[in-house]
Amino acid sequence: MADPHSTPKRHFETELVHGGTLRSQFAETSEALFLTQGHVYESAEQCEKRFIGEDPGYIYARFSNPTVAMFEKRMALLEGAEAARATATGMAAVTAALMGLLRAGDHIVAARALFGSCRYVVEEHLPRYGIESTLIDGTDLAAWRAAIRPNTKVFFLESPANPTLEVIDIEAVAAIAKSAGAKLVVDNVFATPVWQKPLALGADCVTYSATKHIDGQGRCLGGVILASEEFINTHIHTLLRQTGPAMSPFNAWVLLKGLETLSLRVERQTRSASLLADWLADQKKVTRLIFPGRKDHPQAEIIARQMGGPSTLIALEVEGGKAAAFRFLNALRIFRISNNLGDAKSLAVHPATTTHQRFTPDVRASMGVGDGLVRLSVGLEHPDDLKADLAEALRVA
Ligand SMILES: *Cc1c(COP(=O)(O)O)cnc(C)c1O
Repeated sequence: MADPHSTPKRHFETELVHGGTLRSQFAETSEALFLTQGHVYESAEQCEKRFIGEDPGYIYARFSNPTVAMFEKRMALLEGAEAARATATGMAAVTAALMGLLRAGDHIVAARALFGSCRYVVEEHLPRYGIESTLIDGTDLAAWRAAIRPNTKVFFLESPANPTLEVIDIEAVAAIAKSAGAKLVVDNVFATPVWQKPLALGADCVTYSATKHIDGQGRCLGGVILASEEFINTHIHTLLRQTGPAMSPFNAWVLLKGLETLSLRVERQTRSASLLADWLADQKKVTRLIFPGRKDHPQAEIIARQMGGPSTLIALEVEGGKAAAFRFLNALRIFRISNNLGDAKSLAVHPATTTHQRFTPDVRASMGVGDGLVRLSVGLEHPDDLKADLAEALRVA
């Protein structure tokens, strides 16, 4: 598969551990946690200079903080982005990226297979401010072209999408966005920076929920927006400072520790997910199995081109609809029922009654979220134990 991070100055794994580190005068080994909302100044003159940007340094934690800055710098290095801004949650990152780009009278086109909250922002929140939105089948390039209007300013997509693991050709959509004068924003949560680099594929902006694989241990919320210096300064910087969805320094510290092991975890979890997906595909009670690492994935050819590896997630349909899916979930012992993903602990969820319950059955069907669909997030347990757990749950289902 393609190497998504081929030309960094230092290797990805090295930046995961060292990127962006700011040592204090105490020369600590581990990143310092600066739990402070503000900073003191040597003089009123220095304070004045700090505020007008002539004296580099920190002012107030809503604007920036040394621990948060380490996280931002490390993420920028990992993504190959010029600039990054951390946010309190992944949804704060998505909302700020879109609100920063759009204003009344503009139009956004988005792939319809979206995480429930992302779809809410596009479909319900933005139109309240006079922004039109169109949802399309993101895998259909002609649909992106057909949706363009004179006022189209933004394209937005997730790939692989939550929870159907549908994959979109980012390079092709980026080219269409460019020809329309629109910016492409990619929510890269499912791929992680280990397996996919949307900026290198032509996207203008990438967002993450750091809550998922970046923490990877179910401890805290976080988000990040990555783009060029110019993009961040023009669209994001002032909006974040003045509206305040800032990341807590404590969460930034937790996330820095999470990043140290990101590639180890994602690679191991992906390997286990591949083993389990192949095994599940052969089970009689599994009527549908979607995994981006399999040849039978509908977009296998695009995946081989644009991703360095598949996914830590699997979607499957159990024969017998909702009732069978519930029996399956209730019989799991190692996989726990939870809507988080990317965790060291294996987790399973029924999207139709949780993350996607707000939608009507018709809309869910159009997103590929059937009543029998279960999403598995594969963790760090031994794959044989996970397989035994799934086998027993399938027997009960
Ligand atoms: C979880 C998730 C989000 C939102 O992240 P939070 O940190 O929970 O706000 C956005 N997009 C995708 C694809 C997600 O999985």
